[in-house]
Amino acid sequence: MTKASEYVKSIQEEIHAKDANQPEFLQAVDEFLTTVVPFLEKHPEYEDSNLLSLITEPERFIQFRVPWQDDKGNWQVNRGYRIQFNSALGPYKGGLRFHPSVNLSILKFLAFEQIFKNSLTGLPIGGGKGGSDFDPKGKSDAEIMRFCQSFMTELSKYIGPSLDVPAGDIGVGGREISYLYGTYKRLKQYDAGVLTGKPLDFWGSKIRTEATGYGAVYLVKHLLADLDENFEGKTAVISGSGNVAIYAIEKLQALGANAVTCSDSNGFIYDKEGIDLALLKDIKEVKRERLTAYAEQRPSAEYHEGSVWDFDVTAELAFPCATQNEINIDQAKRLVANGVRVVAEGANMPSTLEAAEFFIENNVYYCPGKAANAGGVAVSALEMSQNSQRLQWEAEEVDARLDGIMKNIYEACRDTAKEFDAENNFMLGANIAGFARVAKAMYAQGLV
Ligand code: NDP
Repeated sequence: MTKASEYVKSIQEEIHAKDANQPEFLQAVDEFLTTVVPFLEKHPEYEDSNLLSLITEPERFIQFRVPWQDDKGNWQVNRGYRIQFNSALGPYKGGLRFHPSVNLSILKFLAFEQIFKNSLTGLPIGGGKGGSDFDPKGKSDAEIMRFCQSFMTELSKYIGPSLDVPAGDIGVGGREISYLYGTYKRLKQYDAGVLTGKPLDFWGSKIRTEATGYGAVYLVKHLLADLDENFEGKTAVISGSGNVAIYAIEKLQALGANAVTCSDSNGFIYDKEGIDLALLKDIKEVKRERLTAYAEQRPSAEYHEGSVWDFDVTAELAFPCATQNEINIDQAKRLVANGVRVVAEGANMPSTLEAAEFFIENNVYYCPGKAANAGGVAVSALEMSQNSQRLQWEAEEVDARLDGIMKNIYEACRDTAKEFDAENNFMLGANIAGFARVAKAMYAQGLV
């Protein structure tokens, strides 16, 4: 065992003892730590300054009560959170998630991943994440509005355009961002830069809605180009039917791939003729219905209960775009057996560590979430720039910048993996490339 690997092991033991009840956070930290040993061997100063202890501890963690009244006049209460994990590279930046599963462990894993993802974009943004265990499903518009108003009444005390700039995530789209922004404006002042993912009418960025899904596809486009290939004639399996999944499907189809699946938390659609995007958007974005409605209106589609990753379909590309730990080791084996050569994670940590390692060991081009889905936060950072300038750039300009950023991220992952004798191990490449920039900044700033 080298000195660096002993150091990493001691940090792992320390965190496992300290945060034993935070399994998702421990999973994200373990994945990160196991890949950065070779980098630490080249940089003993980071071990000497115990930088890993600092980087795995959030700078600040805020938890608050969110009381709100439902349509029957009953008072409800949820928990609100914001994790301000690391500000070495800029203001805390990361989404808000509204989902009943939200807890400290899940938000800490998301905020931790966000540090390195944001670093990979090359833009001046630190890492954060927040949300609530509020379940938006089945709530009326008025209930969503009252919840968002109460949530922001408290959160507004801790955020600001140069301090912490939240965006959307699961359960938080344009409608929620609008209600949150309206409350912030009323309490503080007009300052569009405090939230990103705003609608275009009040200083959102063009392409932000599409950015995460498009970005994941752009990253794979650059990978395929390196292999002298493209999307033409390739089949893609996708999970999720929310913001990320819909726009990954849109870009896949535009570039010539056949996207044949999508899913929600109850079941999935297999449409051998390719997903009908107009129908999917109408059901999910306009009517806010379940996917069963898709199968009812589309003769070529089958609806199945359960996980799409338990379904056998021959495909070269997989885009998990739903949630964490949706692909376990058995499902990873099934994907490889069905011909999958590229896995691009639109979601955050959708593969368990075992599944991710299986992909890498079996020569699958595994593109981890912190690289593949960084397009969303990248365009959020561009939205911050536009808000500071009081300008709104054209869609073509934002799209071209997004494509360029995804190319840089792909190349950073590829080149860093090569540099550390781990060719095509993009998990290692992404972790080291993301970490290098943050570590350098923290060290230069006196480890604060
Ligand atoms: P949405 O809320 O728009 O959609 C989430 C989708 O995932 C829905 O289809 C939802 O189904 C499904 N889903 C959620 N939880 C589960 C679950 N436990 N099991 C199975 N399916 C589930 O969220 P987004 O599309 O914005 O986010 C999807 C993923 O992408 C998340 O991991 C998020 O962190 C990540 N991400 C999002 C970014 C963004 O810009 N929005 C940026 C970077 C990453 P149902 O409707 O049944 O709940």
